[in-house]
Amino acid sequence: MDSNSLKASNIRRLEGKAALITGGASGIGESTARLFVRHGAKVLIADIQDELGNSICQQLGTQETISYVHCDVTSDSDVRNAVDLAVSKYGKLDIMFNNAGVGNAEASVVDADIENFKKVVDINLFGGFLGAKHAARVMIPAKKGCILFTASVSSVLGGAVGYSYAASKHALVGLAKSLCVELGQHGIRVNCISPFVLATPLSREVFMGMEKEKLESVAYKAGNLKGKVLDSEDVAEAVLYLASDESKYVSGINLLIDGGYSITNASLP
Ligand code: NAD
Repeated sequence: MDSNSLKASNIRRLEGKAALITGGASGIGESTARLFVRHGAKVLIADIQDELGNSICQQLGTQETISYVHCDVTSDSDVRNAVDLAVSKYGKLDIMFNNAGVGNAEASVVDADIENFKKVVDINLFGGFLGAKHAARVMIPAKKGCILFTASVSSVLGGAVGYSYAASKHALVGLAKSLCVELGQHGIRVNCISPFVLATPLSREVFMGMEKEKLESVAYKAGNLKGKVLDSEDVAEAVLYLASDESKYVSGINLLIDGGYSITNASLP
């Protein structure tokens, strides 16, 4: 079956599952929400872009299948509330996708802005930690669950973009590995995905406000699979695999979605 017939097929790989997606109002999170709904999951999008988040939910389904909650992932009470809302709406939480993040590109460590460094780590790392902490609280009694993090190709590379970004994404993988060990005994799987550069608002901001076309051409030149540009739908397909029961024995991995880029000597633009 080619990828187009797979997309058109009626196979629903997340039927009956409930998912919470942080950063679901845009980019990878939005594409994942779209794919999850198509595969039968009930989805709660948690983000700080309320208008966008609500309008995506209206496009994708009814209040019974997809809804939005305001949630700053750096706020313990916001994340607690989002997890509890998912459980009260859908009766459980099977999939926690900690995806919200911000980019950054400090040119030099000497000039790096201290407050900005803290902000990036706060959102990308601490935000993921809070998501996992509150998800584990409801998944442990259920004796099952799937916790996912969006790291980045920067989780395995130095010198790719910014110090704070690379540090936060490396640390996220360390967090996931530790959680995998503790939570595995409760039937909970924990994995990371690590995409290469793709055109979203985040990357456009990091790469000097480049428009989609330009960014894609840079990503294409820097990438390994010449002729192919990564997009958020490709990333969502990898998330779907890790969220579905098809990966029931996969835990503790950092799945690189980079066309082999991280094992070449190329440098990011
Ligand atoms: P995006 O800007 O389209 O989406 C990020 C979302 O996170 C936005 O909707 C934003 O509102 C939300 N967000 C930001 N701060 C938040 C906070 N404090 N609380 C809640 N939500 C918050 O970008 P994207 O590329 O889809 O990014 C998603 C994830 O993918 C990020 O973790 C990013 O680091 C990672 N990533 C992106 C790329 C890329 O090239 N775009 C590559 C590798 C990894």
